[in-house]
Amino acid sequence: MAGPFAHLADDLESIRQKNLYRSRRVIQSSQGVHVQIDGRTLVNFCSNDYLGLAQHPAVVKAFKNAVDEYGVGSGSAHLICGHSVIHHALEEELAAFTGRDRALLFSTGYMANLGVMTALLDRSDAVFEDRLNHASLLDGGLSSGAKFKRYAHADVDSLAVHLQQATGNKLVVTDGVFSMDGDFAPLDDLSRIAKQENAWLMVDDAHGLGVIGEQGGGLLEYYGLSQADVPILMGTLGKGFGTFGAFVAGSETLIETLIQKARTYIYTTALPTAVAAATRASLQLVIQEAWRRSKLNALTQRFKCGAGQLGLTLMPSSSAIQPIRVGGSHTAVALSNALFDAGFLVSAIRPPTVPQGSARLRITFSALHDEQHVDQLLDALGKIMHD
Ligand SMILES: *Cc1c(COP(=O)(O)O)cnc(C)c1O
Repeated sequence: MAGPFAHLADDLESIRQKNLYRSRRVIQSSQGVHVQIDGRTLVNFCSNDYLGLAQHPAVVKAFKNAVDEYGVGSGSAHLICGHSVIHHALEEELAAFTGRDRALLFSTGYMANLGVMTALLDRSDAVFEDRLNHASLLDGGLSSGAKFKRYAHADVDSLAVHLQQATGNKLVVTDGVFSMDGDFAPLDDLSRIAKQENAWLMVDDAHGLGVIGEQGGGLLEYYGLSQADVPILMGTLGKGFGTFGAFVAGSETLIETLIQKARTYIYTTALPTAVAAATRASLQLVIQEAWRRSKLNALTQRFKCGAGQLGLTLMPSSSAIQPIRVGGSHTAVALSNALFDAGFLVSAIRPPTVPQGSARLRITFSALHDEQHVDQLLDALGKIMHD
């Protein structure tokens, strides 16, 4: 049919042909280790609620109490009249938790990344990104207008060469724990090179904060890096913290700059106060309940060990993200469906979320799983992968 956007239906068909068509599964239950879909109960191995805090009674109670006191909507953007005493307290607690001067709440991680990069960079600057960075970091770099370079995954030498050739302000940007691979960015080397080449380093630790490090301080705690080593730290609240939203932490100057200039901060409604209240409760649990991290580690180790015995090839990840790379999108979807039939929810991750030819099952663990869940999954994987 002629007319505007006449190609859309063909485009959809072509996505389907390539096994890249995405559709949503409707979850009929709350989030948790078990979820209900189509009236069936499945064991969930694809949530980012690593510590099992999304349903925690203390988090839920804090949310309810705050709704009773403050209502639902925050009313406006932070800079107009939406910045409540609860948002403010959470920012102070996040700054203390991360050992930074200040922290600034954003409504989502995607917006935080876009906001930081467009506020700091312009056309005379240059941004350097790991080629496996999260889409929001790539989009932030592209929309900033700065010269945009991707370096080979975790390849500090390749980054150094790019940095030496650049002019203007230089910003190096990386995932902390890589979201689809589960491995750690070499932050110690990255921070050293960045300093040496007079660049700033920004780390998006969406999958590390709360989860990695004895205190849950994420990859920066793991490597022992300060604000001087990593001037810009971004974290999300919808993963390890089990709630919603995101924050950026760093110096007074950085945070004040973002308040003045980050468009995704200025021109959007503040998070509901109750979400901030729930996050304050979950932050306390993150700090106090180190057993959640130990248990997550133990489950991950149990899985890696069992997968090795089955002859499955895992990726070099020691985090709770344990992908099994299968290559083709068709295979990844077929395996995910077979696991679904066996009672396990494991998502197939396909391009463009991951590079061409590297489709995978992305298995994630939660502190609420127990050993039997892991063993049952291994059992099912053994049967399905060897068919
Ligand atoms: C999930 C994620 C984001 C986006 O955070 P949201 O709060 O979900 O928008 C950003 N970066 C990384 C690495 C992520 O995994």
